[in-house]
Amino acid sequence: MVKEIVGHDVVIIGSGPAGLTAAVYAARGDLTPLVIEGPQPGGQLTITTEVENYPGFATGVHGPKLVEEMRDQARRFGAEFLEAWVDRVDLSRRPFRLYTGAGVVEAGALIIASGASAKWLGVPGEAPAPGGLGGMGVSACATCDGFFFKGKPVVVVGGGDTALEEANFLTRYASRVTVIHRRDTLRASKIMQEKAMVNGKINFIWNAEVVEILGSADTGVTGARLRDTRTSDMRIVPCEGVFIAIGHKPNTDLFKGLLALDQAGYIITEGRTMAASVPGVFACGDVQDPSYRQAVTAAGTGCMAAIDAERFLDNLSDTFLQARDIAGQGEIAYL
Ligand code: NDP
Repeated sequence: MVKEIVGHDVVIIGSGPAGLTAAVYAARGDLTPLVIEGPQPGGQLTITTEVENYPGFATGVHGPKLVEEMRDQARRFGAEFLEAWVDRVDLSRRPFRLYTGAGVVEAGALIIASGASAKWLGVPGEAPAPGGLGGMGVSACATCDGFFFKGKPVVVVGGGDTALEEANFLTRYASRVTVIHRRDTLRASKIMQEKAMVNGKINFIWNAEVVEILGSADTGVTGARLRDTRTSDMRIVPCEGVFIAIGHKPNTDLFKGLLALDQAGYIITEGRTMAASVPGVFACGDVQDPSYRQAVTAAGTGCMAAIDAERFLDNLSDTFLQARDIAGQGEIAYL
């Protein structure tokens, strides 16, 4: 628990594969990074099951196991961890200041790896209970909630890899999984499509949008009201679970107005580096990546961000030493 201000050369916000890889590299660079773990320690990998495309694991690896290994690896080289939520950041001067529930943290360089969160449809019935049926049959995480749908029919909304992965996983429990997609072609990769198409428990409803999730506090979810995107015809699909899998949005609310973000809210990084628009701030993983969003690309950019941060701090100390030589005095400080 941080009570007073603590300072670190490198502070990393987020503990998914990007943040943890940055921590491994920064720790090996003797920078004793502090990882602020955030509300979902381990990131999205902790809510996946088998990861089959992370290099080095010929037979696949469980998502939570993979992040646990990364965390242990970072810790072995001296990374420190803080379970806290960052409420506010001050990037107007260095060291940067991070205001967390556990106290104030100062950072010589900041690496943002705060990831992305599930998007929601914004339709009636979707909000968390008591306002809606969220937690009572509506979910964005099959691995977290699939177990509750043993022998029950469920729907999955979306046509990307996440939707099909969720659908495949849900067939372990559900009696039937209906994927509802707003177009008639899937966005998901070929291999995921093939897997879903041969799974006898999965069926598809094409060209349909969910406009309402039906049910009550007493019954939980009882169905989804759909609109045909071509004819506008309405129909109801009876089901007891609705899994929303329509993509993610970057977790950048904290940085609005402080860093350059693109239209979708992703942090903009400079050229071939992970440098954000404020010198000394770097971003890696899903928070800056609208197109690849893989565990391995997150890890790769985490490595790049740590190397960039290390170079930034090295250059600062060179600048400082030059300045001190000229002035003939001085106590080491952040410039
Ligand atoms: P995507 O953005 O790839 O797909 C989102 C899907 O949801 C699209 O089919 C989209 O429809 C649909 N959608 C978006 N908004 C709405 C809406 N308001 N109403 C109805 N449907 C909507 O997101 P994913 O989360 O699936 O994947 C993100 C990334 O993560 C991808 O790069 C993917 O490859 C990767 N991934 C990889 C996995 C793996 O390798 N094992 C597993 C999971 C994800 P439309 O197609 O019409 O735009």
